[in-house]
Amino acid sequence: MTKQDQETQQIISDVDLEKTFLGSVESGQSLPTNVLPDKPMAPDVAAQLVEHYRLNEAKANQNLATFCTTQMEPQADELMKNALNTNAIDKSEYPKTAAMENYCVSMIAHLWGIPEEEKIYDDFIGTSTVGSSEGCMLGGLALLHSWKHRAKDLGFDIDNLHTHKPNLVIMSGYQVVWEKFCTYWNVEMRQVPINGDEVSLDMDRVMGYVDENTIGIIGIEGITYTGSVDNIQALDQLVTEYNKAAVMPVHIHVDAAFGGLFAPFVDGFKPWDFRLKNVVSINVSGHKYGMVYPGLGWIVWRHNTADILPKEMRFQVPYLGKTVDSIAINFSHSGAHISAQYYNFIRFGKAGYQTIMKNVRKVSMKLTEALKEYGIFEILVDGSELPINCWKLADNANVKWTLYDLESELAKYGWQVPAYPLPKNRDDVTISRIVVRPSMTMTIADDFLDDLKLAVDGLNHSFGSVDESNISVDNKTTVHN
Ligand SMILES: *Cc1c(COP(=O)(O)O)cnc(C)c1O
Repeated sequence: MTKQDQETQQIISDVDLEKTFLGSVESGQSLPTNVLPDKPMAPDVAAQLVEHYRLNEAKANQNLATFCTTQMEPQADELMKNALNTNAIDKSEYPKTAAMENYCVSMIAHLWGIPEEEKIYDDFIGTSTVGSSEGCMLGGLALLHSWKHRAKDLGFDIDNLHTHKPNLVIMSGYQVVWEKFCTYWNVEMRQVPINGDEVSLDMDRVMGYVDENTIGIIGIEGITYTGSVDNIQALDQLVTEYNKAAVMPVHIHVDAAFGGLFAPFVDGFKPWDFRLKNVVSINVSGHKYGMVYPGLGWIVWRHNTADILPKEMRFQVPYLGKTVDSIAINFSHSGAHISAQYYNFIRFGKAGYQTIMKNVRKVSMKLTEALKEYGIFEILVDGSELPINCWKLADNANVKWTLYDLESELAKYGWQVPAYPLPKNRDDVTISRIVVRPSMTMTIADDFLDDLKLAVDGLNHSFGSVDESNISVDNKTTVHN
């Protein structure tokens, strides 16, 4: 050590600089990544290192791609922090969390058209999950097991996969969980292709995919790709007709991952829920329009009966000296999300959710208006139903760039607006999508629209417009500069 180094060392230890984050030894080293570090570090330093690293991720407010909640009230943050050490599966140890879970299931069921007079917990049944994916898995499994029982009763040889391989009918723009479901449980996925610009279940063709081995049809109240909805009311009528003569009546499960806690609060939706009699179960993500941070979903079955929720899917866990059904796939997870959902429900009530969702829709409509003004975007989904904006470049758009270019350009301003192809059959069409979430206030929308203008101007400038396509290469270079 040189004399100067020694002096510096002395000064540093005199003022405890090495105990501060920027003065710490660790700040001058790369982050441990592959193996557990040999030595501990001070908690403040470790915490700041992690935070420092994490903050280089996208800013939640500018992530217009996600459906998931990025902002809750400080009171909810506090509640969640305090409940993080509870385990939602230990119903005897945490009976109040278990009770709040039941209250939420009941409130959700009633939002979905379960008749008001049905006694709480008596007829319908449901559970919290870690998200809609687990909800969809459970909904699908209940359809599968219910079909197996009914098929056995009818004398089908269900072990013969040549004659009786179970199948599931769904439109081709499904969320990936349905593919996982079919792969994990060896169910044939029958995808109904989309027809023209109608990005939803094709009512003219869907019943052609149904046979005696169909465990169910999935109706999607909120298609992830575009934010459009399946016409589940029409589907229900088709199924009613089909079931009149069917050996094996078919059931509907509704995947309402994001529509399920939006549609009940605003007008403009056809009946899609338990008001329709062939709908046996519905899932929703609490962490989407339920306004809870990621890690929460729900599923409700319309009747607490073995014909739609078979006995083998119910596992007994102790609860207050008796036992109750545990239906979830996941075992241990924190009860914090349940407290937060219950908080949101009692804090906002129906009127609160209505007001918030109306604001959300207002923002979505404003985005549509602004996009239309460019004259180059064709609006596919305008936000007047679910608050999703979806557009493509109009066929006559006078531009040389693509929506992928727009995605990259917007990213320079920090905004995440994904571009991607439509589902099978229409995958020649590229679209962009914005999900308007409750935390996307008009302020944020206005800010985004300012940057969108800069991005479009920038693209036109650097790519040139089609009008300029016959100008000389030299001139183009000038345009670029
Ligand atoms: C988001 C989504 C899912 C998956 O939900 P998670 O809560 O993220 O697990 C399933 N289906 C649809 C239609 C979705 O939008």
